[in-house]
Amino acid sequence: MLLTNRQLFLRHQAQTSPFPALLEIAGAHGNYLIDTSGKKYLDLISGISVNSLGHGNEKVKKAMIDQLNLHQHVMVYGEFIQGAQTNLSATLTSLLPQNLNCVYLLNSGAEATDVALKLAKRVTGRRNILACKHAYHGSTHAALSLNSEEYYKQAFRPLLPGISFINFNDSNAIKQINEDTCCVITEVVQGEAGYIPADKLFLRALRNRCNETGTLLIFDEIQSGMGKTGKLFAFEHDGIVPDILLLGKALGAGMPIGAVVSSQQHMQSLSEGPVLGHLTTFGGHPVIAAAALAGIEVLLESKLMYQVEAKEILFRTLLVHPAIKSISGKGLMLAVVLDTFENNLNVIQGCMADGLITDWFLFADNRIRIAPPLTITTVEIEMACKVILKNINRVYPAFSSSNKLFSS
Ligand code: PLP
Repeated sequence: MLLTNRQLFLRHQAQTSPFPALLEIAGAHGNYLIDTSGKKYLDLISGISVNSLGHGNEKVKKAMIDQLNLHQHVMVYGEFIQGAQTNLSATLTSLLPQNLNCVYLLNSGAEATDVALKLAKRVTGRRNILACKHAYHGSTHAALSLNSEEYYKQAFRPLLPGISFINFNDSNAIKQINEDTCCVITEVVQGEAGYIPADKLFLRALRNRCNETGTLLIFDEIQSGMGKTGKLFAFEHDGIVPDILLLGKALGAGMPIGAVVSSQQHMQSLSEGPVLGHLTTFGGHPVIAAAALAGIEVLLESKLMYQVEAKEILFRTLLVHPAIKSISGKGLMLAVVLDTFENNLNVIQGCMADGLITDWFLFADNRIRIAPPLTITTVEIEMACKVILKNINRVYPAFSSSNKLFSS
């Protein structure tokens, strides 16, 4: 008997969650996903912060096809000169402060995290690392070591030694940075903590203390980069520049990518003592590099970034309800704070049934994730908020019956 795709998925694909969403995708175009029954879903999470330009951008597809016609993989990263890689690296660095002038292209965000830690150790000759509580930097052994939650780590120990955690946005914690600290790594908007922007004072304190102690400051903008906060990189809001920048997710315009950006002087250390300080076969794959470059061009030409603030305001204006405790985040990285996971899950499942895809967060399961493609329109934002409020009304009947304004 022929098995359904759902049966094949559950039987032959490794499962990571006890309750996968099990939406069977037939296609994705613009701001919508379409399932195999033909039902359309407005995408409010962009494949977790990846599809900033919507699904299937024509210019990105053309750039990939053009590159496919030239060549695909030809050699491991760092040996042959390939135009797709050099164009991407040159464009990316032209958009960054002067010290961030050299790029190592990788396959994923977690890999970028690993390379950044190795680079910091190699450059400083030190071993101790400081990370923030409730940060998420990926799932490989090294990136997992930066996860402050023992629940996720205990089964996989031993992990990297020498890692300590500080509270995010606690400027007093900088006392823990000393001459033995090789790097401090932080997100600029904490993602999986439920979209919490860093305070300028915190970033400034980290920058100053890192300067005093010769510690490298790493900003992980894998989730917050590429225009989602209204600037190309979230660190630009406060003008505090890291020594190492991590990018991924939306950088690939729908294709898998990771990138470490630092100074050429720092990066040089990966080619000596030892040589081959980091190797990757597929990092900087030419077809993906071509997609990423086209994605940057589309983002810059479209001026989508400049509409982010107005779209944030519209979400915040419409999402008002007594059951909503607050809305955290910045730009189109927003989180609706409810009371419990059970209620949140109920709202999220109702939204899904109503054709709206959203999600919760790894460390904040009482929050609804709002991270749509930047191409989301005003009408679509209104539609999304209506569906969210309808489902909040359903899940919190006491609130809606006491307040006519919220019954739809
Ligand atoms: N860093 C941040 C801030 C992330 O949000 C993620 C993924 O969610 C990662 C790193 C890991 O990226 P990847 O899943 O591509 O390994």
